[in-house]
Amino acid sequence: MITVEEYQESVLARVEPLAPRRVPVAQAHGLHLAEDVTAVLAVPPFTNSAMDGFAVRAADVSGAPVSLPVAGDVPAGTTHPVAVPPGGAVRIMTGAPLPAGADAVVPVELTDQPPGAVVLPPAVEVRRAVAVGAHVRSAGEDVRPGDTVLAAGTLLGATQLSAAVSAGHGELLVRPRPRVGVLATGDELCPPGTDPGPGRIPDSNSVLVAGLVREAGCEPVVLGAVGDDPERLSEVVAAALPGIDALVTSGGVSVGTKDVVKAALADRIGFTKVAMQPGKPQGFGVLDGRVPVFALPGNPVSVLVSFHVHVAPGLRRLLGLPARLPLARARAAVAWRCPAGRRQFVPVVLEDDGVDLPSVRPASAGGSASHLVASLAAAEALAVVAEDVDAVAPGDEVGLLRWS
Ligand code: AMP
Ligand code: MG
Repeated sequence: MITVEEYQESVLARVEPLAPRRVPVAQAHGLHLAEDVTAVLAVPPFTNSAMDGFAVRAADVSGAPVSLPVAGDVPAGTTHPVAVPPGGAVRIMTGAPLPAGADAVVPVELTDQPPGAVVLPPAVEVRRAVAVGAHVRSAGEDVRPGDTVLAAGTLLGATQLSAAVSAGHGELLVRPRPRVGVLATGDELCPPGTDPGPGRIPDSNSVLVAGLVREAGCEPVVLGAVGDDPERLSEVVAAALPGIDALVTSGGVSVGTKDVVKAALADRIGFTKVAMQPGKPQGFGVLDGRVPVFALPGNPVSVLVSFHVHVAPGLRRLLGLPARLPLARARAAVAWRCPAGRRQFVPVVLEDDGVDLPSVRPASAGGSASHLVASLAAAEALAVVAEDVDAVAPGDEVGLLRWS
């Protein structure tokens, strides 16, 4: 048996980040930036009005109320605004460029003009003085060309994308979303919602792994369930490889008589016993020199644990992110038993009881048994217990691997 860390290292040593790709901003949501983004445009790109009103020289309205002749109209989108002559005004709309000569905007509410769509008046009465710069948004007030708007590694959400667009970008260099094949194995599996009949069970691992893949920021490519037929499995894998960046299989990796993944892939990927519970049998390799394959054991709890401990770090590496998540700490709320010599990962429910650390209790009453799939629904994290511990008592400190 090798340790959890030795196995993690051997996996990560063989996984490379996917090459960055330039994509239209509309396709970049949810992806990570692969380079710093600097402003091409200033924000705002030109000095403009913050209000609907009249562009003036502040000095000309210092003795308000005053009447000024209106020299023209500047709606938003105007490219060559009429200049404001000394002693005059120009009607202006929000977002329109400030005309030459003007240094302030008088909001329409501070004039004799009604708001809304009215004909251009020959003159406007300004009822209140305004300061130089009033209601004027200066070019580059937020960002100047060349300023860094977003740092490499940023997760692109709605506001990050709008910042990039405002700063002049139409495309961004991102880490592409890895496409991850999801393959279940076993003669006993039947599709969700169908009557399993004697000796068969619903394939719950396909939706489990597909969901975990999605939660890890990748795109699942669900390949379905294949029976315990190594030739069929090899065909399905070969057909899927060109369209995927990683593959996660479940089942068929231990020492049963029908361990299909082992039978089909043993010449191309390695199988190992890792000192952990659950999740001892693991397979990993790289197919076609490009596609990392994680062959997980079939028990759903083993799948969940193996995913968070081994697959998720590999997917984060594909995404160009730090592979490891920091381990938090928690206290056991109840006692449970642990296997000697293996690190234990227990799906747990968190209880905030006001003590220094969150308290945790196993999500399933049956302890760590790896077939108790329905109880997994309550689990929020994995409690991590060291190899040399054989029993956890209430109040004992344990590690906590959180995934959200
Ligand atoms: P295996 O690793 O193939 O021996 O499977 C171990 C256990 O996990 C067996 O009880 C299987 O029935 C169960 N199992 C395997 N694959 C799935 C799956 N896709 N959905 C639910 N249970 C599974
Ligand atoms: Mg099986």
